[in-house]
Amino acid sequence: MKKCCFFVFVTLLVARTVTGSDTVAPALERDQKAVYSFEGRFHRYLEVISDRWLKGMRERNPAIVLNYRDRDQVPPRSFDFFAGEFAGKYLTGAVEIYRLTKDQELKQYLEGFVDEFLNYQASNGYFGLYPSDQGYKVSESWDIWGEYHVMLGLLFWYEETRDARALNAARRQADRFCSIYLGKPGELSALRYYYTNFAIAHSLQILYRHSTEQKYMDMARQILDVELQQSGDYMDLLLEGKEFYEIGLIHRESDWIHAARWEAQHILMALAEMYWSTGQEKYKNAFQKGWYSIVKTDRHNTGGVSTNEALIGKPYRPGGIEACATVGWTALTCEMLKLTGSSIAADELEITLLNTMYGYQPLQGGVINFGVPMDGMVTPFMAPAFWQHGDRTGGEELGCCTVNVSRGFGLVSEWAAMRDKEGITLNWYGASEITTMVDGVHVQFKQQTEYPRKGQILLSVNPQEAKQFALKLRVPYWSQRTTVKINGTAQEGVRAGTYLSMDRTWTSGDQVEINLDMSLHYWSGMEEMSGKTSVYRGPVLMCFLGVRNAAMPGFDATDMEPQLVEREGTADPLVRIKVKSSNGTTFLRDLDSATENNQPYITWLEISNAPVTEFSEQNPLRSGRVKASQKKP
Ligand SMILES: [Zn+2]
Repeated sequence: MKKCCFFVFVTLLVARTVTGSDTVAPALERDQKAVYSFEGRFHRYLEVISDRWLKGMRERNPAIVLNYRDRDQVPPRSFDFFAGEFAGKYLTGAVEIYRLTKDQELKQYLEGFVDEFLNYQASNGYFGLYPSDQGYKVSESWDIWGEYHVMLGLLFWYEETRDARALNAARRQADRFCSIYLGKPGELSALRYYYTNFAIAHSLQILYRHSTEQKYMDMARQILDVELQQSGDYMDLLLEGKEFYEIGLIHRESDWIHAARWEAQHILMALAEMYWSTGQEKYKNAFQKGWYSIVKTDRHNTGGVSTNEALIGKPYRPGGIEACATVGWTALTCEMLKLTGSSIAADELEITLLNTMYGYQPLQGGVINFGVPMDGMVTPFMAPAFWQHGDRTGGEELGCCTVNVSRGFGLVSEWAAMRDKEGITLNWYGASEITTMVDGVHVQFKQQTEYPRKGQILLSVNPQEAKQFALKLRVPYWSQRTTVKINGTAQEGVRAGTYLSMDRTWTSGDQVEINLDMSLHYWSGMEEMSGKTSVYRGPVLMCFLGVRNAAMPGFDATDMEPQLVEREGTADPLVRIKVKSSNGTTFLRDLDSATENNQPYITWLEISNAPVTEFSEQNPLRSGRVKASQKKP
C-alpha cells in the first residue's frame, strides 16, 4: 500500500469502533460447566504433569519469576532472548490443566505463583525481562512475544479465578503497549520479529472482551489491518490463495524462515477473535485458508506440525518437529473447531494428542522431548548437546517447550466437551465421566471403553431428571463404518467426518453404543517418503521399533491380518498389534510407547499395495483402506 493513503486508512480504521451488533458467536464453545474425571493413560499423564511438573516449578526453577524481578539489576542477568515467554506459557498451560483436574493443591500452588509473579511487573506496566525503560525497543528481542504469553497466562488465570489483580496487570501491560504503538502505524511492523510480535493482537482481544476498553480492540485492529500489510501480509496472501508456507517463500530475500515460523500460527488465532468481534468474513476466510493450508502442507503423519521450527510445505521431509509448534497447532485447531463447528478439527486434535503430544511428554514424568520426528529418535530437552543451554542458573529445566507441553494436554479442556445453542457436543472418547449442566439440570456422561485400543464405546447418559437436549457425537473422518445405537436401536445419519446429532428427551440410564471402525487405514507417502506408507489403527499411528536397514520387515496392505495384543499392565503399550510381514510376523505399536524409552522407531514403513488417497478437506490424513475384494483370502 502506498504511504499517502496508508495514513488516511489508519485514521478511518482507528475511528471505527466495534459495536456489539457486529459480534458473531462461535459455532461451538468450550463447555465451562464441564467437570472431568478421566481414566487410563490420559489420567496418568494429567497426574504426572500436575504433580511432577507444574507443582514445585518455582522452587525448582526460581528464575521463572526472579528473571522479572531482577530486570533492572546491574550487571543484568543473562537469559535467552525468548525467556520472557516462560512464565506466561507455564501459567497458561497450568490453568488449562487445572480446568481438567480441579486439583485444589494445584490451584493453591498457582495462587502462590501468581501472588509472587504479580509483584514483578515494572511500575510502568512492562512485564518483560529487559531493563524496564528499554523493553520492546530492544531490536533483536522477542520481548513483545513474551508479553503476549504473560498477558495470555494472566487472562486465563483471571477467567478461572476472577482474580482482579491479574486482569489489572494485563491491562497495565496493554496500556503501556498502546501508549507506544497505538496510532503510530508502521513502528511495530518495522521491528524485526514481526511474526512473533503480532501475536499480541490475540491476547489484546481477549483482554478487550473482559475489560471492554476500546483502545485494546483498536490496537488489535491496527495490527491485523495495517501492520500485517507492512510485514508478513498473512491475511491478504491467504485470501489470494497462497499456501501458508509460501508466505515464508515470498519473504525469502530478507527473512524467509521468519515469516512462516511456527509462532505465526498465533497471528491466525487473532484473526478468529477478530471475526467474532466484527462479523467480517475476511477474517474467518483467511483463518480457514490458513488452517487448511497448514493441515495439508505442514501437518505430518504424527499429527505434529513444522519442520525445523518453520512451516515449509514439506509434510514428508525428515527433520525436527518442535513441541511448541505442535502446541501452537493444537491451540490453533481449537479455534478452528470453535469457528466452524467442524468435527474434522476435533479429529485432528485427537490425532495430534494421542500420537505426538503423548510422545513429547514422558509417562514417568521428567523433562519433555523437544522433538518427536517421524522416523528416528526423540530429542530430549535436557540432552547435553541440546542448544537451549545458555546461562540457566536457577532455571535449569526451563526452555521454550518444557514450559509449553502441558498446554498440549490442557487444551483438551477446550475441546473434550463443548456446547452450542442446541446442547452438548462430545468430542472426547475414552474411559471417563464428564458431568455438566443443561438448563440447570446435572447431566453425567459416563464412558466405558478401552478406546483407543478398541472401537467400542458404551456411553451412559444420566441426567438428574428427564431432559430434552441435543447430544452431538463425533463420528471421526477415518471411521469408515460406524454404528451408533441408542438403547439398542440403530441410529440413522451416521456419517464419517460429521457430528451425529441426537435430539431427544434423555433419561437416566440411557445407553448409547458407539462402534468405530478400527480396521487399518493407510497414508501412502510422496516426495521424501515416496514408496513408504504410514498405517493407522483408528486415530493411532502404528510404528516399528527399530532402525531402517536391510533386516527391516516389509508388509503387504492386502495381507496384514492385524491381531490386537492383550495388555498386561498399565505400562504396556497403548496399542500393540501383531501383523504378517516378510519376517513372518512383526509387532507394531503406538508412537507414544515407542518414544518412551528413547528407542529408535519408524513410522514410514515399507508396505506394498496400500491405496493412494489424495488430500481433501474431508480427509486431511489422506488415508484409505484396502478394498475387501483386494484382501488376500
Ligand atoms: Zn519450543
